[in-house]
Amino acid sequence: MLSLRAFRDAISKLSLRKKLTILTSVGVLLPLLALTYLQYRSLTELQTKTKGAFKDNLRQGLPFVEQQMKQRLEDVAAQTLNPIGSMHLSSQEELDKYLAGVKRTHPEIEEMFVYSGEYQRARPDIQFLYDKARMAQSFVDGDRKYLFAPSMPQGAYLFYPLADQNGFAGVFLSKGFVSHDLLAGSINDVSKIYHGNTAVASALVITINDENGQILFSNAAGQPEYFLESNFNHPFTNWKARVGLKGTNIDALARNSFLHSAGATVLVLIFLLFGMALTIRATDREARLAQAKSNFVSNVSHELKTPLSLLSLFSEILELGRVNSEEKKTEYYRIIRHESLRLNKMIDNILDFSKIEAGRKAYVFAAGDTAEVIEKVLSSYRYQIINSGFDVQTNIQPDLPPVLIDRDAMEQAISNLLDNAIKYSRDVKQLSVTMERRGSNVSIEVADNGIGIPRAEQAKVFEKFYRVGNGLVHDVKGSGLGLSLVKHIVEAHNGAVSVESEVGKGSRFTILLPLIGEA
Ligand code: ADP
Repeated sequence: MLSLRAFRDAISKLSLRKKLTILTSVGVLLPLLALTYLQYRSLTELQTKTKGAFKDNLRQGLPFVEQQMKQRLEDVAAQTLNPIGSMHLSSQEELDKYLAGVKRTHPEIEEMFVYSGEYQRARPDIQFLYDKARMAQSFVDGDRKYLFAPSMPQGAYLFYPLADQNGFAGVFLSKGFVSHDLLAGSINDVSKIYHGNTAVASALVITINDENGQILFSNAAGQPEYFLESNFNHPFTNWKARVGLKGTNIDALARNSFLHSAGATVLVLIFLLFGMALTIRATDREARLAQAKSNFVSNVSHELKTPLSLLSLFSEILELGRVNSEEKKTEYYRIIRHESLRLNKMIDNILDFSKIEAGRKAYVFAAGDTAEVIEKVLSSYRYQIINSGFDVQTNIQPDLPPVLIDRDAMEQAISNLLDNAIKYSRDVKQLSVTMERRGSNVSIEVADNGIGIPRAEQAKVFEKFYRVGNGLVHDVKGSGLGLSLVKHIVEAHNGAVSVESEVGKGSRFTILLPLIGEA
């Protein structure tokens, strides 16, 4: 119980950013790492399976090649041999005419013959092949009409048994047709369906051999490493297909596919981490802003209260006529004027801020002398400066060219800087205001020897509501709007504002404004 409380206390002391980082590490990063590890494991497993699957895939392709070849042969037979079945074979003239016509329209056919009746005897070698094919039932079609009998390397026969017992017709297909059309054509068709135009398709080496080891077809020269050997089925039983890869091997292919998937995973992981970092940043920013807003309300109420109570106190003393010395009276009037000016300035800042937030802040620019603006601001602060014992050094370069400015806005910006310089000074009460030309710009510097700003906070002080989070600053009340207004005003003038500061030594704020015609 105690340890749980201690744990809660420890957690509640952490900054929101730390909390978020811990939460995302435990809630998102750890599961993500576990998931990545599992993904890695399944990818390595897949790599092993890929090899087997690749071989299976190719093996399954062979029956399709067979099917394709049978279809081609059946087409040729149907076009050339089938009509013979319905002819009057006794009319030699009709037959000769038909055979001549077929040879003309089918260049793949080198020879065509019909042996029918007792007197027409087949050539012994053809008869032998026909008998062999019949015995082996080497039909190419489902209706068992046409027989296929390879006679490589010369070519291949297609036979068509006729109705009379011993008669048959046939065509002799050229060697070119067998290797280029029948084998290569069918293999290419199937390979296109299976692999498309992928790198795998172009790396595949397919070789078809007959029973004597004679190469009938090969799509690549040389002797690649074959990883798959398989015999064709009927009616191509004597043919054997061997498959290999050129320029790569099956391990490299599997590794490649592993690397692709792993790469994609890493990419997704990077995006995810990047998104997480962005989310943490955005949430942190929002939380800081919400915190700053709530501080703002309490700071501003306090800031308004102090001058108001001073105003009411001194006006009451004066009203009651309790002050006799003229000197004292003048001092009280001054205090009243100064406090009402301060109040006014603060309300101006808040009103301007709300205009900027609503996008309604309009600037009126005119060519003006910035030195005059600085003088005006300094004179309005003179009383406060002298009264609180400050020493101000002004260093204004004379005769500087004019700058396009909105005088009221620029007065407000410089007075915010001066106000801060006074507010955040401690024992060394020295300020300096410098204006000079810097290239095509005019620079206005307000420097103090005050408490300074830590390096890590220097960029943040220009954010709205931001106040440096160390104890010293919190003695000094403020709204956290002053510098964000300075930045807005200066940027509206196409200028830039920056700060150099060292803790304990002081700060120097610099406004750069472009000179007319040189921007
Ligand atoms: P604030 O109303 O708090 O002064 P600003 O926007 O003017 O708001 O300034 C933001 C914060 O920057 C201040 O709260 C203070 O911490 C720091 N800061 C501004 N000017 C100075 C300075 N001259 N010296 C030290 N710190 C400064």
